[in-house]
Parts: sequence; structure tokens; C-alpha cells
Amino acid sequence: ASADLGRLAAAVLAQVRDVVVEHEAELGDLDAIAGDGDHGIGMRRGVDAAAAAGEQNAAAGTSVERVLTAAGEAWSERAGGTSGALWGTAVMAAGLALGNRDSYAAGDASAAVSAFSNAITELGKAEPGDKTMVDALLPFRDAFKDAFDGGASLTGALTTAAAAANEAARRTADLRPLKGRARPLAEKSLGHPDPGAVSFGLIAERVATYLAS
Ligand code: ADP
Ligand code: MG
Ligand code: MG
Repeated sequence: ASADLGRLAAAVLAQVRDVVVEHEAELGDLDAIAGDGDHGIGMRRGVDAAAAAGEQNAAAGTSVERVLTAAGEAWSERAGGTSGALWGTAVMAAGLALGNRDSYAAGDASAAVSAFSNAITELGKAEPGDKTMVDALLPFRDAFKDAFDGGASLTGALTTAAAAANEAARRTADLRPLKGRARPLAEKSLGHPDPGAVSFGLIAERVATYLAS
């Protein structure tokens, strides 16, 4: 059962790679407004490596834990940059939360979402309102939990949560960045959404759409 889930995780990582590739230029342009312009290429490098590592491990029939920890390690190593370290660590944490078990229950999905979210806030230490991916991540986590605990299906809860993430990512346009960017450039970012929040929303939506199909 863990190997089956490993194959599903690798298929999801391939979708994550595809959506990042589709939006690579746009994410780079967004990061160039008040950052260093490398969010598209950094995400691309990380997710290419993560999807390849996931595919290799899934093909070898290893556990979902191994698929995701290998993918997360590859993501951190190859991406460079802040977002790569955060995504890599979060993917690893989700894998460790799922573990290598014979059977899985609904609550395991919640545990994986929490582990993913906690890994990013613990490593990055960004607060809500700092204008980072956390401003899309926490609304995602909360909407997922509300919907799932309220009886929605996994894919229903993910779809609701992805919509919340995208809405929240758009609202980061009103914020001034407080983390991960040179302060003199902060004013330039006003009126534009945070690149990491935007990429998180795009990825969440693609994963939800894929799992619902
Ligand atoms: P870098 O900033 O190293 O060039 P990227 O351009 O790939 O890396 O990623 C920038 C994104 O990383 C930002 O838009 C923001 O969403 C996210 N980010 C930066 N610092 C933090 C942090 N401390 N916690 C969470 N997210 C962060
Ligand atoms: Mg950057
Ligand atoms: Mg950079």
C-alpha cells in the first residue's frame, strides 16, 4: 500500500513539475520586481530534480516515505535559494509523516498537510503578513482542515484549500515584504503579489485538480 501511494506521490510530483514549467517565466518576472528574479528558474531546477527522484524511487517500488524524502532532498539540493530549501524540507516532512505503512486512513492526509505546513514555518520563521508563501500556505492549511474535518472528501477539501491559497496569494499584492528580500526594494513590491505565494497557489490548484480527475 505504501508503494502504491509512492507511485501516486511520484505522479503528483510530475504534475507539480509541469505547472512550474508552464509558469516559470511569469514567476521569474514577478520575483524580478522586488527580488532577484530567480524564482522561476529556482523552482524549475528544484522540481525537475524532485520529480526525477520521485519517479526513480516509485519505479523501484519503494515506499511513499522514500519517494517523498528522496524528492525533497533533491529539491533542496538542486534549487538553491530560499524557496527550494523550504519546499524540499516540506516535501520531506510530508513523506516522514506518511511513513511506510500497510494501510492508510483519512487522518493521514491531515497529518501530511500539517507536517508540510509546519516544516515551512519552522524553517523559515515567517509570520503571516510578512509577504511570503506562508501567506498562502496557512490559509490553505486552515481551509483544508475546516473542510476535511467538516466531512468533505480529500479531493473536495484540497479543491477548497487550493482556492483559498490562490485568493490569499492575490491578496499579498497589498502587503510590503518583511522577509527574504532587501528592504530598499520593498516598496516596489506593493501592488504585486509575492512570487512564492503565487507559485504555492498554482501548485496547490494543480495537485487538487489532478487528484480530483
Ligand atoms: P530567493 O529569495 O533565495 O531568491 P526564491 O526567489 O526562489 O528564493 O523564492 C522567493 C520566495 O521565497 C518569496 O517570494 C517568499 O514567498 C519565499 N520566502 C522567502 N523567505 C521566506 C521565509 N523566511 N519563509 C517563508 N517563505 C519565504
Ligand atoms: Mg529570488
Ligand atoms: Mg535568489
